[in-house]
Amino acid sequence: MSDKTIDPARLSLLLNELRLPASKVIWPQFAEQADKEGWPAARFLAALAEHELAERDRRRIERHLAEARLLPGKTLNTFEFDAVPMISKAQVMAITAGDSWLEKGANLLLFGPPGGGKSHLASAIGLALIENGYRVLFTRTTDLVQKLQQARRDLALESALAKLDKFHLLILDDLAYVTKDQAETSVLFELISARYERRSMLITANQPFGAWEKVFPDPAMTLAAVDRLVHHATIFEMNVESYRRREAVERRKGPGRPASHATPADIAAN
Ligand code: ADP
Ligand code: MG
Repeated sequence: MSDKTIDPARLSLLLNELRLPASKVIWPQFAEQADKEGWPAARFLAALAEHELAERDRRRIERHLAEARLLPGKTLNTFEFDAVPMISKAQVMAITAGDSWLEKGANLLLFGPPGGGKSHLASAIGLALIENGYRVLFTRTTDLVQKLQQARRDLALESALAKLDKFHLLILDDLAYVTKDQAETSVLFELISARYERRSMLITANQPFGAWEKVFPDPAMTLAAVDRLVHHATIFEMNVESYRRREAVERRKGPGRPASHATPADIAAN
C-alpha cells in the first residue's frame, strides 16, 4: 500500500464507525512517531489498541463517578484514621478491594454520633471502589425513600428497585433520619429485602439498631430488616467526639496555628 492510498479523513471516519474515538484522535500523532522512529507495524497497532483500552477504562470510571453522587473532596487520603482508633486503616483498605464482600452482597454499617466521620468514610470507600471498577450510588436515605415512594405510587416500585441492582454498592447515608410518614410505606424494607444476599449496602446511622423503630412500620419489620442487614455485615462503631468540634477546640487552643495566620491583633497581643 502506498502512502497515496491513505486518506486521513476517511481513516478518521472508519475509526469513528468502529467506535474507536481515542484512536481517531491519537493516530496521527502515533503514526508520525512510528514513521520517525521506524516502529514495526505491529508495534504501532499495539500502541493504538493499548491507548484505546486505557481511554475506555478512564471514560467508564468517569461515568461511574458522575452517576455515584459522592460527597466532593472526601477521600481516604484526607481521612485521618488516628481520629477513629477503633477502625483499622488496613481493614478499610481491604474493604475497598471489594471482591469478596460485594460478590456475596454483604453489608457495611457505620454507627456513631454526628460529626464522627461516617459520611466522609462512606463516600471515600465509595470512591475507592469506583476506582477499582465497581459501581456505587451515594444517597441520603430520605431522598431515596422519597423516590421509591413516588415509584410505588406510580406502580413502578419493582422496576425502581431493579434499576438499583446495577450498583454493586448502595450507600444510604443517615438511615435514622427517615421520618414516620416515610416509614409507613415500608419501601425501605422492600429495598433491604430485594438486595439481601445479592447486592451490598453501606448504611450510616447516628442511632444504634434499638432506635430504628421509627424507620420501619412496626417492630416485627424493624427486626426483620435488622436481621437481613446484619446477617453478612461488618459493623464500625465510630464512637468518637465530633471531628468538627475537636478541630474547633484545637484551633482555639492555638499552638498548632501557623504563624502566617497571625492577625494584627495576635501580633499586638504578643
Ligand atoms: P458524620 O457523617 O458522622 O456526621 P462527617 O463525615 O460529615 O460526620 O464529618 C464531619 C466533618 O468532619 C466533615 O467535614 C468530615 O470531612 C470531617 N471529618 C470527620 N472525621 C474525619 C476524619 N477522621 N478525618 C478527616 N476529616 C474528618
Ligand atoms: Mg453524615
